[in-house]
Formats: sequence, C-alpha cells, structure tokens
Amino acid sequence: MLYSTHESGGEAGGEMALERLVGSTEREEDRAVETSLRPRKLDEYIGQDRVKENLRIVIEAARARGESLDHVLLYGPPGLGKTTLAQILAIEMGVSLRITSGPAIERAGDLVSLLTNLKTGDVLFIDEIHRLARQVEEVLYSAMEDYAVDIIIGKGPAARSMRIGLPRFTLVGATTRLALLTSPLRDRFGIIHRLDFYDERAMLEIMRRSAKILNVATDEDGAHELARRARGTPRVANRLLKRVRDYAQVRAGGFIDGDVAREALARLEIDQLGLDETDRRVLSAIVEKFEGGPVGIATLAAATNEEVDAIMDVYEPYLIQLGFLQRTPRGRVATRLAYEHLGKPYAASAVARAAAQLTFLDPDGDDE
Ligand code: ADP
Repeated sequence: MLYSTHESGGEAGGEMALERLVGSTEREEDRAVETSLRPRKLDEYIGQDRVKENLRIVIEAARARGESLDHVLLYGPPGLGKTTLAQILAIEMGVSLRITSGPAIERAGDLVSLLTNLKTGDVLFIDEIHRLARQVEEVLYSAMEDYAVDIIIGKGPAARSMRIGLPRFTLVGATTRLALLTSPLRDRFGIIHRLDFYDERAMLEIMRRSAKILNVATDEDGAHELARRARGTPRVANRLLKRVRDYAQVRAGGFIDGDVAREALARLEIDQLGLDETDRRVLSAIVEKFEGGPVGIATLAAATNEEVDAIMDVYEPYLIQLGFLQRTPRGRVATRLAYEHLGKPYAASAVARAAAQLTFLDPDGDDE
C-alpha cells in the first residue's frame, strides 16, 4: 500500500449554520481577528477553572520531569475554547502545534505523514476526532500507546510490514460528541475534560477583554447586555461584539452603551437570552407541529429544514442548558419555560407525560 503525503487542512464540518450569527461554529470572519483574540497563556484563558487548574498541574509536572504531556481529550459544544486550549498547551510546553481535523485525514498514510513530521513533545490537535475514518483511527491506537506505527510497504506477495518509531508527541483530541468516540480511542487519552458553557461573570470578562483588544468602547450596561446574549460561548461573544461595534460606529459614534447594544441586537433578531430565529424555529416546531413533543431528532430536523448534526451540536445544547428542551428516550420535549419564552400557553399533558419518563434516563446518555 502506498501512503500519500497529503497535507491535512484544519477545516471540515463547519458547513452547518454558516449564516447564523449566534451559531458557534467557526466562520471566515472569525479567523481574521482570531489570532489577536485567542488567549495564548493559561492565565489569559478565562473561566473553565477546574479544567484550567488540572491542566496547570499536568503541565508543571511534565515540564519538571522533562517529559511530553499525556494525551488530552476535550469535549463540549463548538466555540467554547477547545482549539484555544490546545494552542495554550503547546505554548506553555514550548513546543509546536499541528492542527488538523478528523475528516481532513482521509487515509492512514495522511496520518502517518503527519505523525512522522512531529518533533518530540509536539502537540497534534485533531478537531472533530469522532469523525476519523476507521483505518485512520486504528493507526492512531499504536501511535498513541507505543509511539510507533506499522506500515505496509509494497504490494501483493512482496508486501511487508515495517514498524516506524515516532517521537513522543501529545495528541489533543476535540469532539462535540463524546458518545460517538469508540472506547479504544477514548481509553487512550490520559486526560479527559469537558468544557461547559461559560457563566455570566466569565462571559463578561471575556467581553471586556475582547473589547479592549479590539479597541471598542463600551460601558458596563453595554458589555453586560452583549455578554448575557452570547449563549455562554466565547466565539459568539466575539462575533456579537464585532457586529454591534459596526452598528455603534455608524449610529452611535462608536460607543456601545446598553441602549446601543439592545438596539443592535434587536436588529440582528437576537433575543434577551441570545436565541436567534433558528432557535425559536426549532422550539416553535416542537410546540406547534408536535404538541410539545416528544419528537425524534430526525423528524425535528426535517420539520425545521436543519441538519441533524447542526441541531445536536449547535442549537440543542444551549436550549437544554436554558432548560427549554429535554431529551427523553422517545425524543425531544419542549418544557414549560420554552412555552413561556415563546409566549404560548403550556400544553401540560403531552409534556408532563414525556417528562415523567426522564427519571429513567442516564443523565449522560446523549446521542442516539
Ligand atoms: P472550539 O475549538 O471549542 O470550537 P475555540 O478554541 O476556537 O473553540 O474558541 C473560539 C474563540 O473563542 C477563540 O478565538 C477565542 O478567542 C475565544 N475563546 C475561547 N475560550 C476562551 C476563553 N476561555 N477566554 C477568552 N476567550 C476565549
């Protein structure tokens, strides 16, 4: 078998929700200012205190021993800072970072060439690691565990297998769907952390930091308003800030106070809680077309003209966090809070029936 030396780009799977302002998947416009906004040191990384403290300890210990870091798996919704953390790990360890993604590594040979080009201690970041092809994933097992890969040289009867040693690298894997990871892969990570939505205090701090870097003037009220509507997601915070900055520049002499923020966000159809038109459409579909649910994810996707993956990765996690949506064994259910938010009378019967089943649910049992 011949291995190609195809270079893997970092982008994949970002097609969904491209036009969505509050969507947390990365877009072209994000990349332009990304470099300046992305925290580069653990101390600049706001929030996620538990994760940060744990990483601080493993970094210090590895540095003191002069060893490379154990493999790290980060999971959680898009835009919460997984790539940023991978970069910080590399910077704090004083090594290089290679960024790629599951779908970008098409063949086992692509991975082999990535791995053999690493230097000792380097960090290889694989985003969307749950989307790795089976044969690629199998190569990763021995790479992660034994720092070696077996490759086959030649074809037919002359083919022979050769083991190539690899430098001691650190794999940082990121996924939005822990449940889709195979257990042999999951088991090979020594450090596994979940990133949660940021609380309001952390969001405010992130908003202030970004405003300072981008040189945007805001008052307390303005910064609060933006922080509150950024869905607990730093990427969304940065995006809202840029949009509202444009509005403020044209309409308010560049200054973002509370009124300017509220006006700009209203124009962008982002409501008090940071929900946009798509979120409301998903909720309304459950309420209006399916009597509050339960409705299966595929049916919901069809009814709203959205991708199943987009609903599961982007929209649903935040709606669940707000307590507007629940996952039950028979599908998604809109809660009383969702009805109230939409200004609809609560259809207690269907919802209550489904909610009663929740008791039997494994709290981590997400994907179907
Ligand atoms: P993910 O890889 O989880 O999709 P990223 O690491 O790309 O998310 O983060 C998206 C953006 O959010 C980054 O450009 C960065 O500027 C910002 N960001 C993420 N986490 C933090 C944080 N803890 N503090 C400040 N900014 C952050």
